Amino acid sequence: MSALVLNNPPPERDATLLERVRGSYLGLAIGDALGATVEFMTPTEIAHQYGVHRDIIGAGWLKLKPGQVTDDTTMALALGRAIIDRHAIEASAIAHSFDAWMRAKPVDIGHTVRAGIRQFRLQGTTVMPDDEMSAGNGACMRCLPIALATFGCSEAEVRAASRCQAHITHNNPLSDAGTETVILMLQALLGGHPLGQQLHRFAQPLATSHHVFNFRRRACRNPSGFIGDTLRVVFEGLFDTGSFEDCLVEVVNRGGDADTTGAIAGMLAGACYGERAIPARWLKALDGEIRREVVQQAESLVAMAPVALR
Ligand code: MN
Ligand code: MN
Repeated sequence: MSALVLNNPPPERDATLLERVRGSYLGLAIGDALGATVEFMTPTEIAHQYGVHRDIIGAGWLKLKPGQVTDDTTMALALGRAIIDRHAIEASAIAHSFDAWMRAKPVDIGHTVRAGIRQFRLQGTTVMPDDEMSAGNGACMRCLPIALATFGCSEAEVRAASRCQAHITHNNPLSDAGTETVILMLQALLGGHPLGQQLHRFAQPLATSHHVFNFRRRACRNPSGFIGDTLRVVFEGLFDTGSFEDCLVEVVNRGGDADTTGAIAGMLAGACYGERAIPARWLKALDGEIRREVVQQAESLVAMAPVALR
């Protein structure tokens, strides 16, 4: 007798839309909190200090409390708040919300983000000049609210909404291409389309049109804050593992910008596998206020979708 046993079952088919939506926003926060401990460490340093890093314990260079998140999560929350308040995607409302976020003295902030918010403060502009140097991952790390609010919009509308929030700080074609790809993948996963399909539909075409995203050629380790490095690690973690936990452990143990690779991998894996696939110990360890706020925003944003770009 032989039974067909799938060693890689598709749990994404079991989750409802709401479970995926909640899983995605929780995944972002959990990946951030997990990865922040080892941010800017090399894989060798991580192995030496933790063996395999797999628990949310805080610390790291930011000296975080266990379960505390960083700018990746709190900027996404600032973006989500602006969309919920205005019931629309509106550059000036989002820029105001980013400005309020910066005034509240976040635990960390990237220099491209700081420069963009400063420019808004001084000149009221919501589009940074096109910049070769701003191909950082700062627009991508906070993109989830756009994916939720534009769920059901056309691809052109989704891309325009993505640029509206991204260009406040990061106006760069590679950042745009990577961020829009992540948003379109998120929406496909939230819609219940299987993970394997996203490899051919989105990840591989992105790598073909821009070689900096060429993942799986040689495992990317110690990724910088460059969007190319970031998404190579995220795609390798996402497509070469079979669970939420394995994906995040694989990604953050590569070190480098680990809170951000963790955050982006977390939103995608959460959308893929759903809230129930998130290990209980991680949910428990995540800061309680953040946990409540991400779930609330996740539900509000998807409930108001599709939201218009103004
Ligand atoms: Mn961060
Ligand atoms: Mn980071």
